[in-house]
Amino acid sequence: MALLDVKNLEVSFGLRSGAVKALRDINFSLERGERIGVVGESGAGKSVLGFSILNLISQPGRISAGDVRFEGKSLQNLNDKDMRTIRGNRIAMIFQDPMMTLNPVLTIGDQMIECLLAHRQISKAAARKIALQKLMQVQIPSPETRLDQYPHELSGGMRQRIVIAIGLLMDPDLIIADEPTTALDVTIQAEIMELMLELCERNNVALILITHDLGVVSQVTQRTMVMYAGRVIEQGPTNEIINDAQHPYTQGLINALPQMGVRGERLQQIRGSMPSLQAIPKGCAFSNRCDYASERCRVIPEFTRSGGCLVACHMVEELVAQSENKAQDGGA
Ligand code: SF4
Repeated sequence: MALLDVKNLEVSFGLRSGAVKALRDINFSLERGERIGVVGESGAGKSVLGFSILNLISQPGRISAGDVRFEGKSLQNLNDKDMRTIRGNRIAMIFQDPMMTLNPVLTIGDQMIECLLAHRQISKAAARKIALQKLMQVQIPSPETRLDQYPHELSGGMRQRIVIAIGLLMDPDLIIADEPTTALDVTIQAEIMELMLELCERNNVALILITHDLGVVSQVTQRTMVMYAGRVIEQGPTNEIINDAQHPYTQGLINALPQMGVRGERLQQIRGSMPSLQAIPKGCAFSNRCDYASERCRVIPEFTRSGGCLVACHMVEELVAQSENKAQDGGA
């Protein structure tokens, strides 16, 4: 049985102008210890997906169709008490801004101990010992001292390590990390992602990594889902998506990445911007930005298998043939 099973998930927001769908037809499953990246531009629905897994969509939003199952149990049918046991205990969430998790008026130790005492029947001394162990796991220097410090006394990178340590407090089976390194310097980003990878591998923890950064995804995950306007438009093994993306949108994201060692060339941007939820084009949502759009793109594309990936594009076979021809011409 999969650790997490998301089936036909749909999230709607009721606005004055009518209901809009922030997520449509999301399907994926995650095995124990598996790491999946969720990528796309702002507004693609990545964070809504993270929140909906934890049943944390607030009004006027709601899960309007589909199901999220954790170890075979539907999370939507759980009462608040049972859901709280899952949240934080079995599934931890890590946000971009550590200050969303950390309480500025409590010491790090008090916050960690409070969290442990809320979920476990243990003494305060035992809780402090566990908190110390977790700080050591995330390689915080002088962990004993950090327990008695306040969040504002620590650097951004150190605060994010503390948030990861808090996420690990209950030994979760799944971590949902939403842009966990976006607010950090590039060198600290790399260190934090390496740490998350090591911790997930060592503890067999599954990871859903939500990010706009394909570089981060390639560093950490085995599988990737690319989202656009609330739908998954391409998914498959991360190395295939990075090295041989088939969907024109994914190709655009990859072409927009800076290439190491290539100087003086302008980055290729995808023209236009992500449509608002109220103005998604009929048929393929990417059609108003796509160079290959044609009459048939007025119909929403189904997934087509291409190599190990599923690609929601009417043109996928032609695009694959084109790139094979180019490769042959280049090799001739
Ligand atoms: Fe472009 Fe059409 Fe494919 Fe959408 S379905 S990505 S518009 S070619």
